[in-house]
Order: sequence, then C-alpha cells, then structure tokens
Amino acid sequence: MNATSSTKPLESDGDFSRLFEILREQTKSEKEAETNLHPQTMCPAFGGLRVLTRIDGAQVCLATDKGCMYGLTFVTHFYAAKKSIVSPEVMSTQLSSGTMIDDIRKTLEEIAKDKSIRLIPVVSLCVAETAGIAEELLPKKVGEAEVALVRIPAYLIKSHPEAKDIAVEALLKRFALPPTRELKKSVAIVGEIFPLDAMMIGQVLQRIGVESVLVLPSQQLEDYKDAGDVGCAVALHPFYERVEQFYRERGTPVIAGNPVGANSTYKWIKDIGDALNLDAELVERVAQEEKEKIKAVIAAKKINATIIVAGYEGNEFPLVRLLLEAGANVPYASTSIARTKLGDDDHKLLTTLGTELRYRKYLEEDRRAVLKHKPDLVLGTTSLDSYVKEQGIPAVYYTNIVSSRPIYFAQGASAMLDLIQSLIRRRGAFEKMKRFFEGDGDSA
Ligand code: SF4
Repeated sequence: MNATSSTKPLESDGDFSRLFEILREQTKSEKEAETNLHPQTMCPAFGGLRVLTRIDGAQVCLATDKGCMYGLTFVTHFYAAKKSIVSPEVMSTQLSSGTMIDDIRKTLEEIAKDKSIRLIPVVSLCVAETAGIAEELLPKKVGEAEVALVRIPAYLIKSHPEAKDIAVEALLKRFALPPTRELKKSVAIVGEIFPLDAMMIGQVLQRIGVESVLVLPSQQLEDYKDAGDVGCAVALHPFYERVEQFYRERGTPVIAGNPVGANSTYKWIKDIGDALNLDAELVERVAQEEKEKIKAVIAAKKINATIIVAGYEGNEFPLVRLLLEAGANVPYASTSIARTKLGDDDHKLLTTLGTELRYRKYLEEDRRAVLKHKPDLVLGTTSLDSYVKEQGIPAVYYTNIVSSRPIYFAQGASAMLDLIQSLIRRRGAFEKMKRFFEGDGDSA
C-alpha cells in the first residue's frame, strides 16, 4: 500500500496506531470520492403546487402532515404565488381514526364559502397517498368551486419538474374539452416560459399561419379547457411525459423540442407546420429566416470558455445546445429529471458533441465535475454554487439567473449569450474574493 511503502519499519505500538490511522483516512477519502449523498431537488411536490396555486381563483387544499405543510407553504409563497395553503390536520390521530376524507370534505366546504374561489385542487402528498384517498368519496364541485384531486406521491416522483407534469395532466384530464377532430390551426405550448418568450413564440407561429396559441401551465382555468381541442401540442420541456401521453391518446400530435439554437429552431418551426398542415412554402421561408437570424447572433457573440450547467429544472440541455453552438466547451451538464423520450434528440446531440450528461444527479457528481474540468463558469444549484465560488470560479444560481430569462429565437439567444459573456468576465472578481477569504492581504 502506498501509505506504508514510504514509511520506516514499524517499531512500536504507537507506530501501529499511526498505520491504522493512515488506513482509516485513506479508506474514508476513497469512499468520499465515490459516494453520492445528496440528490438535488427540493420536495418534488413543490412543482405541482407552483402550477396549481398560480391559477386565478384557485385555493389549494393540501392533504399532508404538518412537516410537509410547513416547508411547502414556505417555498410556495416565495416561488409560486403569495397565497395561503389550506390543509385539514392529517396526523396519526386522523389517520388511525379514519377521519381523513371527512376532514377534507369539511375543509372544502370552508374554502368554498369564499365565492371568489372557482377551483379547489385537493393535493394529496406522501402521507395521504400512503394512507389512500378514494377519489369517489370527494365531491366534484362544492358551491361554485370545481374540485380536482391531484395525487403527488412525492417519494415516487423524485423531482419537482415532474410534479408539474402531474399537475397539468390532472387538470387536463378533469377539464379539457373533447377534441372536435376539425383541423384546427391552434397550438398548446407546454412548458413554463418567460413572458417575452411567449410573445416571440406567438409572433413566429402567427407568421406561419397558426391562428391561436395557448401556454400551459396557465393561470387561467379556461386554458385547460381549450387545450383539449388544439391542432397540436408542443412540449418545450422534456419532462412533460404524462401530458404528452394525454395528447397522444386523444390522437393530437405532439412536437418535442424548442426554438433554441439555429438548427433546432428551424426543425421546430417545420415540425409544427407539418403537424398542422400549414402552407409548406411559407413555413420553410419563416423557418429559414429565423435560423439565419440566430446564426447571425451566434456568430457575433462567440464564447470561448469552459462552462458547466448543473440545474434541477429539467430545461438545462437546450441551453447547453446553444452554448455549444456559440463555441463554448461544455464538458458536463446535469439535471434532476430522468432521461425521457421527449429529450432524446438533445441527449443524442449533446453526447455526440462530447458533453457528459447526468440525469437524477447528485451534488457530489456536480462537485467532482467541477474539480475535473476546472470551468470558467458554473450555472448551478445553490449548494454547488457556494462550493464553486470557494474555488474562485464564477457561479450563478441556474433557476434565478438563467431559467427565468428569455432564451428562444434570435432575441433570446442574444440576451442569453450576453449574460453568459458578462458572467465569464467576472472571473477576476471571484479570484480576488477567494484570495481575500484565504487571508491574502494584497487582494483587498
Ligand atoms: S414527505 Fe413527501 S410531500 Fe412531505 S416534504 Fe417529504 S417528499 Fe415532500
């Protein structure tokens, strides 16, 4: 063993103790080098709550225990809607005495006293799901409010983006209008997007002859009704698998991908044109124009840097595609979602271009990638970012700084590449900060 080969012969008990110490330390660091302890996503149920609490006139009734309630109320207030969440008490007393359903029904009646409430999503989380809620025992309507059961057994779901998929699917199943089978020139965009992106998507689709566009998740319950009768659905993010299945079962075509980067934008526009049987010449012209505009932006904003993208949103890989097109080196990218069929094109492209991809990632995997690749910039989760900043490398929180900005078409590409360039330029400041905290007086 290396630990002992360079040491002098052992002569006393003290030497043996030292030997065991060395062995213990070595084993510990070997284990640490391989062990993954911290999967990175907040409570998966948050994704569902984000979708449901944001709906106008909706009041969530959460079937869960106090621990979950505390944490989820906190993040929902911050990241979803500034609304209280109402919950009947679901603790061991209620579970063992079997009063849970009656308690939920009473809570629904209390909520419905407020006449402005039009929708009460009953969100059943880990504890209630384990105990079991019979949907048949819940009313479909209380007063003026529609009641919809949304089952989110968070322990099974693993990531909050996937819980968004569950929430949208539950609302579509409950409210979507039956398809009329008329050849409608309408599109349901599926994926949370920045308002500017929604406008850009609307403008481009209008130019190819699309007559109406709605975006899910929506704040309007009516959109979930209208979404049942569209000409095609477009899954911008790869984790909307249940929604995809919902549409496929109804015979509605589903387009995967998004207008990020030159070639993917061209293909995306063409795919929608084909699905809706639009004027092929017009579609080709618009697709070419958009592609050329993005190519011009990318040519003007080249990136010469190594970047690691490690979010938990499930929408990281299109950004990686854009960065690679702009000349960046992206050796590693990770996400909290599982690999899906909707994300297959990105998976194949990015791995072919040499990016190592991690699904259902662990914080430790991200850290190891940082040590291995020594990037110029990390777009990561909060825990990863603090670790990266300690190394003097610029790092920003993917969710707040990147995911909440436009990225689609030429305008989005331009804004995103500007942002990335400005972050890379901050390297000097981060190195100075590192020296400062290491006690180097010259850095101040
Ligand atoms: S028990 Fe389930 S719902 Fe509650 S915080 Fe944990 S994962 Fe989320």
